Amino acid sequence: MKRFVWMIAMVTLVMMLLSGCCVSHDMQPATCTEPARCSKCGKTEGEPLGHTEVTDPAQAPTCTETGLSEGSHCQVCGEVLKAQEAIAPLGHTEVVVPAVEPTCTEPGCTEGLHCSVCGEILKSQELIENPWATPRSLSPQSSRPARRRAARRGCTVRSAARS
Ligand SMILES: [Zn+2]
Ligand SMILES: [Zn+2]
Ligand SMILES: [Zn+2]
Repeated sequence: MKRFVWMIAMVTLVMMLLSGCCVSHDMQPATCTEPARCSKCGKTEGEPLGHTEVTDPAQAPTCTETGLSEGSHCQVCGEVLKAQEAIAPLGHTEVVVPAVEPTCTEPGCTEGLHCSVCGEILKSQELIENPWATPRSLSPQSSRPARRRAARRGCTVRSAARS
């Protein structure tokens, strides 16, 4: 009888050794891609949890900024499931801003260029000072017709001789 008990004990011990060590498994929780696993013997249990997909919304490109297509990633482990792809910037939509001719009393400006979408000034308009407003506008080198034209518009024009 004593021998029989001893046999049982031996068999149990051998069974435990064959089964790989574990008296009590140390199960690590399952992850997105791995099932629950014993850290001692590597025995697995159940199925992987699978990724928790979260959508990364698309981002429309602007005139100068790169956009992104819609993608997704796993909320739990952060793995990218669907990569977002870059969308090239659209580029500016150029609109010519017409030049303004100066008058006797109001300054004018040169032609400019701006973007009709984002409003960015692509080519700044340059101020044209009223050419007739100050006597200095006309130099002695100014042509006679130019001085006459200025006078006709009612501008004060210093005579060539005095400047
Ligand atoms: Zn184990
Ligand atoms: Zn995941
Ligand atoms: Zn623009």
